[in-house]
Formats: sequence, C-alpha cells, structure tokens
Amino acid sequence: MRIRAMLMILACLGLMPIGVWATPAKEKSPQGDVAPLRSFDVQHYSVHLDPDVDAGTLRGQVVIQLDLVAAGATRLDFDVGALTIDAVRADGQSLPFEVADRRLQVTLARKHPRGKRLRIEVDYHGAPKFGMEFHPQRGEIYTIFSTSQWMPCIDAPDERASLDLRVLLPIDARMIGNGSEISARKQRDGRRLHHWRLRESVPSFTYGFAAGRYREVALHDGGLSLRYLSGALDERQLRRVFAETPDMLRFFGEKTGIPYRGRYSQALVAKTIGQEMAGLAVLSEAYGQGVLDGSHDVGLIAHEVAHQWWGVGVTCLDWGHFWLNEGLVTFMTAAYLQHRHGDAVYRERVAGWKQRVERLRAEGKDRPLVYARWVAPTADDRAVVYVKGAYAIAQLREELGEEAFWGGIRAYTQANQGQSVVTSDLRAAMERSSGRDLSAFFARWAGSGE
Ligand SMILES: [Zn+2]
Repeated sequence: MRIRAMLMILACLGLMPIGVWATPAKEKSPQGDVAPLRSFDVQHYSVHLDPDVDAGTLRGQVVIQLDLVAAGATRLDFDVGALTIDAVRADGQSLPFEVADRRLQVTLARKHPRGKRLRIEVDYHGAPKFGMEFHPQRGEIYTIFSTSQWMPCIDAPDERASLDLRVLLPIDARMIGNGSEISARKQRDGRRLHHWRLRESVPSFTYGFAAGRYREVALHDGGLSLRYLSGALDERQLRRVFAETPDMLRFFGEKTGIPYRGRYSQALVAKTIGQEMAGLAVLSEAYGQGVLDGSHDVGLIAHEVAHQWWGVGVTCLDWGHFWLNEGLVTFMTAAYLQHRHGDAVYRERVAGWKQRVERLRAEGKDRPLVYARWVAPTADDRAVVYVKGAYAIAQLREELGEEAFWGGIRAYTQANQGQSVVTSDLRAAMERSSGRDLSAFFARWAGSGE
C-alpha cells in the first residue's frame, strides 16, 4: 500500500531534474486574457533522432516553425537540457548562438515584423541523463519528462505545438509515439526510420515515444486502436494487465462528453514510475507484473489514461497550477475505480487522502494548492499537489452533489480543451454549474493565487 500510494504521488515526476520549472512565460490577467511574455509562438516541431541505444547517446536535428509575436525581436531562447548544440540555422542560413543555464540563445540576423513565420533548424547531440532512458539489454529506448533533454524546445506547458517525430531504430524494434504512425521504412544501413505525426497542438512535456524488442497486442475496440507492449510479458498477460483500458477511455469520455478517438498505446518499460504522453503512456514491467499477481491495482493505468483529458487536453498554464493536472487526475482515478470496482474503493482512497492531508497539517507542511513558483518540489509539495488536490476535488463533489459537480467537470473540460488553465477557470465552471459562489471554498484550498 505504501508503495502504491507513493507511485500515485510521484507518477509523472520521477526523473524530473531539479529546478527546471521556473516562472511562467505567460500570465492570465484578471479578465482571463493571456498576455504572451515570449517573443514567439511555436507552431510545429519536426525532429529527427538517431539514437545509439548501446552507447546511450543521441544525434538529432529539429526544425522549429514559429511565429514572432513581438515585432523586432532578435533573440530567441529555447530549453536544451544538457544537449550539445552543433549548429543553428534560420531558413538555411547559419545563426550565432550561445548556450547558458540549459538555454539556447539564438540571435537573428535582422529584425522582423510581428507575425513573421520563421523556420529554425538546430543540429545537436548528447548523452541524456534525464528525459530519455536507454536499456541496451532490452534494445530499448524511451522518453520520460522532460522533452528538452532530447530535443531543443520550449518546456513551459502553455506552449502548444504539433509534432513530426522520426526515429532511427534497429530493425527488430517496435515503436509507439505521439499521434499516428506515418511510415516505418527500412534504411540502407539496415535500420528502420519510424515516422509518427501528431496533428493536435499539445504541450512539449507530452511528446515522446517508447521503442524496444517488445511483444505486442494490437486491438480495435469501438473506434479505439489500442496497443499494449512489453519486453517481458506475453500477449495473454498483456491482455490481462490492460483489460480495463477500453473501459477507462470510455469512462472519462462519458464524464467529459469528449470521447477519446484514435490510438492509445501503453508500453511496459524497464524502469519508470509512470509517464503520460499524448496518445500513449509508459509504465514499468514491475508494475505490470504487480497487476498480474494482484499486488498492484489498475489505478496507475487509469491515472495515465485520465491525463489524456487533464494534462494533455487541458493543461495547467504554468507549473504553479500543476494541481489542475495531477490533483484532478488523482481524483479521477478514484472515480474510475468507484465506477468499476464499487464505492468502498473510492471511500478508501478518499480516507487515505484525508489522512495524508492531516499529516501535512500536523507537520506544518500544509500549504495552498497553487504555488507561486514550483521549483525543486519536495515530497510534501507533491503530496499537496497530488493528494490534497484530489481531496479538495472530492470535497467539492460532496459539497455540490453529483449533478452540479459532474456538470462543472464537463463544462470545464470542454471549454478548455486544447488550452491552458488556471485555478479560477475551474472555479468559474463549478460556479456556473452549481449557481453558487465558491470563492470561499477555493480560497480555503487553493489560496489567493488562483
Ligand atoms: Zn500524473
């Protein structure tokens, strides 16, 4: 139980390098307008990756299509983790650049008007310690938060863009990525170039893929295309581990009125506490084994599925409002378990959250759900965001009753699909649905920074 609770608390955050989450790049005014502080808006990334799984290294090239939103801007900054930058070009012309403090600073040759579309190409290489995992004995490579560790990009969650992802892999590797598989062509060197395309604009932290010598189950279920992969389990075991995935996708689709369409893939990988990406998730082989032998429930699978609506679909504007991703998804996991496995499971979860919140209070570690800065979070900070966040949502459900509560969830999710949110967006949807003033409730749980 302790391990399971810890998994839930830490899901999606495990390998996050300390201190990468800084000040938001955009802020909502009290009227809700988004004022851009970046000088550009990324429209699309097209990345080509040439990884060496045995060596744990990577060569890459990314083409970043962006629109200038500030006239006359001559400096563009990108997040680059620990990558080494080899060259930068704009429309084929070399540009001067510097790298400092995990940021690539590119200087444009001249000033451009607002709205100018630029095509910035970056050649790079590296040996990522975070963000990308290499497991040669399994012929495996996969991504884990955060994307700038393997591709120059904007890490801030309010920057949404579409993606073309090309990865060169050994001939015996299977791959799952964002969006749809466009092609998997054999190359002269005997490897295969896998090309995936994501047409929707999503935050870069949900980009990624998993590839390896996997066994696979591929199935269609009422308009859904599902793939389950593992390097250790066989097809029959994979079907058992992920037996509830179609029901999970349908449940959250019904609760939001936004049905899940297309592909959803899940891979059991060498080592992770769980990570959601747009259209896929990775969980660990050990977790999959635990579901099989009954030592883990399917909560973590449901957690990552729920992120397709909250995290990928509706995303916190900045990490200070991270509880809107993780607290809500932790609650939704319990709501799914209630739907599938009965009220007692839900009540048990809520009781567990209550205990953890009481412990935070007793130890003087309690604090509002909204953070001014989410930098180097502690285990207690994560408990606030995941557990207290879920508990607050459960309290709201009690307070408003089923109809108003779920009506508010539906309205909030539909109104903000494909967009960034702050806590007052959730409050506004819940107030409209219930016809009640919830300012006192949100001030008590989220603080004054909503
Ligand atoms: Zn999560």
